[in-house]
Amino acid sequence: MIQQPVLYMVIPCYNEEAVLPITAPLFREKLRQLTEKGAISEKSRILFVNDGSKDRTWEIIRDLARQDEHFLGICQSRNRGHQNAVLAGLMEAKDLADITISIDCDGQDDINAMDRMVEAYAGGAEVVYGVRSRRDTDTFFKRFTAEGFYHLMHWMGAEVVFNHADYRLISSRVLQEFANFKEVNLFLRGLIPLVGFTSTSVYYERHERLAGESHYPLGKMLALAFNGITSLSVKPIRMITALGCIVSLLGFLAVIWAIVMAVTGQTIAGWASTVCIICFLGGIQLLSLGVIGEYIGKIYLETKQRPRYIISERTGGFPEEGEPVPDDGKGSEK
Ligand code: UDP
Ligand code: MG
Repeated sequence: MIQQPVLYMVIPCYNEEAVLPITAPLFREKLRQLTEKGAISEKSRILFVNDGSKDRTWEIIRDLARQDEHFLGICQSRNRGHQNAVLAGLMEAKDLADITISIDCDGQDDINAMDRMVEAYAGGAEVVYGVRSRRDTDTFFKRFTAEGFYHLMHWMGAEVVFNHADYRLISSRVLQEFANFKEVNLFLRGLIPLVGFTSTSVYYERHERLAGESHYPLGKMLALAFNGITSLSVKPIRMITALGCIVSLLGFLAVIWAIVMAVTGQTIAGWASTVCIICFLGGIQLLSLGVIGEYIGKIYLETKQRPRYIISERTGGFPEEGEPVPDDGKGSEK
């Protein structure tokens, strides 16, 4: 018989004291169901990532870990944002698990889709994207902005799975490869498809948050979209280049027109039109510099190679905690 895979659910939490006591037992129940069904190994765990919460979230996670060995928790040294929290959890889990499923802790993503994700993995998929089939429970505004976000991303040339957020199954093999993506500008849903391997999607309905409030207001969402586009696509800079070409062509025609007018003596030199053209070109140039600056800013950040997350604490209960490696003075050889 084939060995059941060890599953780690990776769950980012930021100021979630209201919802965690409700959803933690639901995740636990799902883990139990999957284990009883024989779909996953007994060694499977639920790994919470506390993203520098300012409320009692970390205490709740520590209590859960104390009461039940199936719960584990890591705590980031400060709030680094959802994407970094998920990354921290995935990197932590990649050597402990065969598969990981990242999911929000607020109960919005239907945990029953996990069964189908694990089945898809058993069927050979290394990455399984959770895709929202309906968004009825979202407000019109959230739906409009969120769907607009996917259209914009696509149009801008970033490959993203439509209506897929960060609810997905990833095998440890894919994570090992993904660990080599060293960039600090994280946009996981655009980066994971770049790693490749066999992938598929499962569809689920998105629910309302069970408690607490969203930490993704419009501002953060726009920042995420902007980050995604500038991290994954060079289309904005191409558009500027194209605009530059068109404007230059128009400018060239205008110059010919001005010369013809001047030579035929039909008009005095058009001061206003000259100033307009200069201003217009000046504007375009500034805009271009702005966009180029954006990319240079990214290069700057990348060259800094900042750590993407720092774990300050860890609960007990991690399986197979290794003995300290004796230092033989030669360094480690594998
Ligand atoms: N989250 C996080 N760090 C942040 C913001 C959010 O870890 O800085 C977590 C949050 O606890 C939740 C998930 O990311 O588990 C999604 O956040 P939220 O539900 O607020 O976003 P929405 O579903 O409204 O887009
Ligand atoms: Mg949510």
